[in-house]
Amino acid sequence: MLAVLSGGTGTPKLLQGLSRLLEPRELAIIVNTGEDLEVSGMYVSPDIDTVVYTLAGIVNEETWYGIRGDTFLCHEMLKRLGEVEMLRIGDRDRAVKLYRTLLLKRGKTLSEATGMLCEKLGVEFRVMPMSDDRVTTSIVTESGKMSFHEFWVVRKAEDRVLDVKFEGVETARPAPGVIETLESAEAILIGPSNPVTSIGPIVSIGEIRRALCRRRGDVIAISPIIGDRPVSGPAGVLMKGLGYSVSPIGVAQLYRDFVGKFLVDYSDGHLAPAIEELDIKVVSTNILMPNHLSRIELARKVLELLKG
Ligand code: GDP
Repeated sequence: MLAVLSGGTGTPKLLQGLSRLLEPRELAIIVNTGEDLEVSGMYVSPDIDTVVYTLAGIVNEETWYGIRGDTFLCHEMLKRLGEVEMLRIGDRDRAVKLYRTLLLKRGKTLSEATGMLCEKLGVEFRVMPMSDDRVTTSIVTESGKMSFHEFWVVRKAEDRVLDVKFEGVETARPAPGVIETLESAEAILIGPSNPVTSIGPIVSIGEIRRALCRRRGDVIAISPIIGDRPVSGPAGVLMKGLGYSVSPIGVAQLYRDFVGKFLVDYSDGHLAPAIEELDIKVVSTNILMPNHLSRIELARKVLELLKG
């Protein structure tokens, strides 16, 4: 079984490929919940939803957020009523979020609600939140501390980043099954996700970090940075704010304690000696996934590497 750590854009692209090549029992996904929030009375878990929608074949691949072909009648009506939602939530997507909120209100945990959602949407792969405890990512900027969504969606990452905090992480426990999955997996893959706000919260949970460190030789990561910029999203400004170079080397430095093998783009092959100084093996290949074919090809390459 391959265990994958995921955020909500880059890694789901790869999951499209991996899910074509692996049986449900051969793939388990541990998902960031640091960006979870409440919107209009609903518990929203953006990365879990994108991963589940991806595996259910219904994700909106233009935004990697929400359901393909969704309508926005409820969102527009709320706007007319003066309730401006921070996130634009589609009608069918809203039904899913409402369903999860109802389950949580009835006493289910986030893990249980995620399992039930997968079952209802026909997803057989195991999807787990990193934790059932609340961990909330905050971005400390020159204009003050704000949520990830305020920083990225509302203010378009225009504020200079000073620090990133994961509130609640010190006491958060891994969700049921997470440590067992990390211990029993043949290999662990850190997908091409934002190293600060998608992978950062997962690896900041003490028990998860220690489990990854114990398996360092079997942990492989894919760079979300090609050249000197991320393929999409705010990873660059966040890494810079924390004092890391915006390059695969910066990502390798963030991951050095628990990653043994690192996939970088062909065009970054010349960085291998600097990354290998961190005792991380480097493989260069095509890691850009603009379409289904490239996602399957990268997934195939990862599986070949794992076979040795
Ligand atoms: P978020 O939860 O929406 O921030 O999503 P993720 O953290 O999973 O994904 C965002 C990261 O994925 C960004 O840092 C991107 O650079 C990276 N990314 C997106 N598409 C690709 C791709 O095709 N290849 C690689 N290597 N990285 C990608």
